[in-house]
Amino acid sequence: MQMARVDLDGNPIAPMSICMIGAGGFIGSHLCEKLMSETPHTVLAVDVYDDKIRHLLEPQGSHPWSGRIEFHRINIKHDSRLEGLIKMSDLTINLAAICTPADYNTRPLDTIYSNFIDALPVVKYCSENGKRLIHFSTCEVYGKTIGCFLPKDSPLRQDPAYYVLKEDDSPCIFGPIEKQRWSYACAKQLIERLIYAEGAENGLEFTIVRPFNWIGPRMDFIPGIDGPSEGVPRVLACFSNNLLRREPLKLVDGGQSQRTFVYIKDATEAVLLMIENPARANGHIFNVGNPHNEVTVRQLAEMMTDVYSKVSAESSSMTPTVDVSSKEFYGEGYDDSDKRIPDMTIINKQLGWNPKTSLWDLLESTLTYQHKTYAEAIKKAISKPAAT
Ligand code: NAD
Ligand code: UDP
Repeated sequence: MQMARVDLDGNPIAPMSICMIGAGGFIGSHLCEKLMSETPHTVLAVDVYDDKIRHLLEPQGSHPWSGRIEFHRINIKHDSRLEGLIKMSDLTINLAAICTPADYNTRPLDTIYSNFIDALPVVKYCSENGKRLIHFSTCEVYGKTIGCFLPKDSPLRQDPAYYVLKEDDSPCIFGPIEKQRWSYACAKQLIERLIYAEGAENGLEFTIVRPFNWIGPRMDFIPGIDGPSEGVPRVLACFSNNLLRREPLKLVDGGQSQRTFVYIKDATEAVLLMIENPARANGHIFNVGNPHNEVTVRQLAEMMTDVYSKVSAESSSMTPTVDVSSKEFYGEGYDDSDKRIPDMTIINKQLGWNPKTSLWDLLESTLTYQHKTYAEAIKKAISKPAAT
């Protein structure tokens, strides 16, 4: 007999029904996988695409979780079925967003509509129907660090007070309006404020998640293979694409920006704790990242090159990296977050969560997946003469 599953306070966890919007994306696919294989919960998976969760949906009847996941092909911009699905569920998780930096300055209207306007009905339906909401925001709401405004040689730059990002303390620092990069961060900030206000004024039970560069298999797409040739995904997929094609990795503005990367499988552990411990998660905003996995983008490129040559058993390319300007790579209006170290106090205290996987290990499993999934397709694409 299976042991009853209990929450962090020792209470049995009752099976729940979850409306997951954006379930067909990178994070959604991993969350669905985890919910199906480790819990008895039911998922109403809402997205316009299902490719990344098709392995969970088909063939009907052959999985132990069969009947616990149902796909609804819905564009939340204009579909009256959404409210019904939220009403039927105990919890709504909203992941739907345009969240690729290449879009923020080139498609700022779509970015703002997707991250703010399209999320409004979701918040409203949860609030009006007394349903719990876990909303995905971003670490980008912090924008730039206070430290980046100090003189380059200031010793204060080494002081964590000037760069560690704290949910209840750090300010949100964005660039000027003409730097349209910040359209995403600003829209996410406003929806966070709206959710927070719904909690304060109307009693909405909410949790806000701020992911700090979650990476792993199924993130984004490889241009020309399972996404547009001219598309620019996030850095993991850009560098994977370069490595698969044996091209130099492109470092935007010298690759000096710093990021902390967390393995998707560690991060979804944190989300499951939020799902199953509402009393500890409601009313909170959580940073979810790995402060120990910090690198500059240049160091990331070097590490990915080393890891890829190990997992593919191919020697690395002769010109490992090349510098490109942000204007050339992303176009007008790009700007960057300089450094992102999450403070972990709140998530430690509320949920006792800590990430486990080192950057090397997470890159090794992710690049093994990329190589297995794409190497053959890339070889074929390269050998095919270009269409006339
Ligand atoms: P993703 O692009 O892989 O997933 C988003 C999913 O939402 C996609 O499958 C997309 O089809 C769907 N979607 C978008 N608009 C929709 C609409 N109108 N109707 C229905 N479905 C729609 O991105 P992800 O990395 O899985 O990110 C999920 C969430 O987490 C986003 O809100 C993002 O802003 C946030 N986030 C992620 C990271 C990260 O490290 N991956 C970092 C910061 C924030
Ligand atoms: N970047 C880069 N080369 C690429 C893609 C991205 O140098 O081919 C840089 C980008 O300018 C940023 C960092 O990598 O400094 C992370 O970019 P990503 O798209 O993953 O999103 P972000 O962390 O900025 O939200």
